[in-house]
Amino acid sequence: MTESPHPLLPPATPVLRLDGRTLQVGGVDGRSGVRVHPAGPDVGQLLAGLDGRRSERAVRAQATAEGVPAGVVDDLLAGLRAGGLLSDLAAADLLATDPGPAAAARASTELPAAATGPGGAGRWHARRLSAVVIDGATRVGAPLAAVLAASGVGRVHVRDRGAATAADAVVGGVSAADEGRPRALAAADAVRRANPLTDLRPLPTDQAPDLVVLCRPWAAVDPLHVSLHRDGVPHLVATVRGETGVVGPLVLPGTTSCLRCADAHRRDDDPAWPRLAAQLAAADPVPSGSTVTCLLTAATAAVQVLAHLDGAAAPAVLEATLELRLPGPLPVLRRWPAHPACPCGAAAARMAGRQRGQCPRE
Ligand SMILES: [Zn+2]
Repeated sequence: MTESPHPLLPPATPVLRLDGRTLQVGGVDGRSGVRVHPAGPDVGQLLAGLDGRRSERAVRAQATAEGVPAGVVDDLLAGLRAGGLLSDLAAADLLATDPGPAAAARASTELPAAATGPGGAGRWHARRLSAVVIDGATRVGAPLAAVLAASGVGRVHVRDRGAATAADAVVGGVSAADEGRPRALAAADAVRRANPLTDLRPLPTDQAPDLVVLCRPWAAVDPLHVSLHRDGVPHLVATVRGETGVVGPLVLPGTTSCLRCADAHRRDDDPAWPRLAAQLAAADPVPSGSTVTCLLTAATAAVQVLAHLDGAAAPAVLEATLELRLPGPLPVLRRWPAHPACPCGAAAARMAGRQRGQCPRE
């Protein structure tokens, strides 16, 4: 990065005075902190000025103009970075909060998590430019859309043709007052409540979204995913089947195993599966899942969506599903490797990679 980073000390980081000459930054929540000594009022002012809006160069220039030696500034910034306390933003990150103080206040709570870690600079701005389509304003889909909007995803479009029923109401999603309204509009209102600046419009036909999230219970046997695969659009399953929350697999067409691969594995286990699956997909799904199961599923899916959009880490649900069955405390990971009989070609590509000595994503 040639541009000077814009250091941000998140406003919620405790800056505590140990004595007249020593400050402690962080270090009270199980993570490491940094003790700064000697630390007069000028150092306190310097810390308060790490607001992500000024470049490191400007921070150093102002501090030295106020009498803090450049070496002290550099040591302080290096210490905060080594302690994982500082997020380095790109200039464009905070341009995204220009619409006003309310947006800036929302960003101040969301942005540090987005910008943490290597490559964090620019990630917040990139989220603002991302577009996600939620297929199904279900008890998982609607709150998931709201969570993604609140997390800074710039465009979140919810697709659904049904009317809301009383059973669709869930915290953070469709409300009890929405009964009888188009479910897509009710979900759009939920997104607006989470972030009024989110773009809710459908994408132009010539523009592919960054991700489609399939929130209907049996999307794996829905023809929709076939067209997504053909068009190379990444897609993720996030749904509740009965009382089981299911997140994954995340399909990167041409790279990972697909939903047909998973279906073929189920057929191997039970030859009657295609007949059962056809009936499951044909029935109009009844809203299901307790509020806790649905919100846990939506939050788990949001983590995977943001990991995919941010590119900060490989999502856990590539060629796998996370299954949540309460009151079990932890999700169960189930693997869905590429199936040799699937026409998607992931198994053949994997084999070719092995022969070349590569083992992608394993
Ligand atoms: Zn496949």
